[in-house]
Amino acid sequence: MKDQFGREIKYLRISVTDRCNLRCRYCIGATGIRDGSSCPDSSCLPIEQMAEIAGAAAPLGVTKVRITGGEPLMRRGVTDLVRMLADIPEITDLAMTTNGILLPEMAAELKAAGLMRVNISLDTLDPEKYRSMTRLGRLEDTLAGIQAAAKAGLAPLKINTVLIGGFNDDEIPALIDLTREEPIELRFIELMPIGAPVFQPSAYIPCSIVTERDDRLIPCGESGTARLYRVPGYAGRVGLISPLSKHFCGTCDRIRLTADGRIKPCLHSAEEIDISNLHGEALTEALCAAIYGKPAAHGILDAEHHSASVRGMDRIGG
Ligand code: SAM
Repeated sequence: MKDQFGREIKYLRISVTDRCNLRCRYCIGATGIRDGSSCPDSSCLPIEQMAEIAGAAAPLGVTKVRITGGEPLMRRGVTDLVRMLADIPEITDLAMTTNGILLPEMAAELKAAGLMRVNISLDTLDPEKYRSMTRLGRLEDTLAGIQAAAKAGLAPLKINTVLIGGFNDDEIPALIDLTREEPIELRFIELMPIGAPVFQPSAYIPCSIVTERDDRLIPCGESGTARLYRVPGYAGRVGLISPLSKHFCGTCDRIRLTADGRIKPCLHSAEEIDISNLHGEALTEALCAAIYGKPAAHGILDAEHHSASVRGMDRIGG
């Protein structure tokens, strides 16, 4: 269905847990410790209820669902959720965003359950920097996850790289070289000022730095929120996603469901609609109201203007 501004809302992102096996500094915040309001699996919506909500959103026009978190692969029963979502006929695109660490053991079962594709988060190719930014992680585990996803046929495979000034801007050409042999899409994403502020304003760098740092890139179209580029002769593509420097609110087609059962019509708004106790017609009515009332835009968002969202990305999902 359309919202009050005529945008067709087709995309539901479901955060299945707040738990994560990493503590990325830009995502979870300065201390790496969450506030008391994050929900363990026992106080998250049951996966059956998440599937029920997706089932109610589908007749309203939702055709694309992304499972995210926290780390979605840490949620017990996530493969069952994939199976339930894959059974909803209107859903033609079923994806997941993950750090990939658990994919070597889970990619094949997820694919068999009906998961179509994954976005894997990878911000650096340097093992020490990876360890330091994630506080807990090993680069080799995420690289193994990327291989496992490719082997399982979770395609097209996308890699999400958050651009962080002074951290990974020196690795732009090396990261782009990941697309040399493999048909992957490497997506550079601007760092958003959401959650606990951790970085100096200089950490926010626009995606335009990517084409400045690598003059091999030539434009090759658009896909969703990404402007696409490729290096001639390379198998994959490079996407630039600019929520700050070129925001895409005018064509935003998403709503989000948090693990504790709130709909967020806009990532950067404080508004949340509690649907955790709703079923049947009441659920459909609440979803319609949430979609219709989606705000026009997220307002100014830059190094000086912080997101109005009361939750950080770890408790919303990317
Ligand atoms: N654990 C999963 C993962 O690592 O992909 C899914 C959840 S994570 C919150 C989803 C995405 O949000 C990741 O790609 C992460 O890099 C991105 N993200 C987190 N904080 C961000 C921020 N402040 N700005 C931009 N992207 C952010």
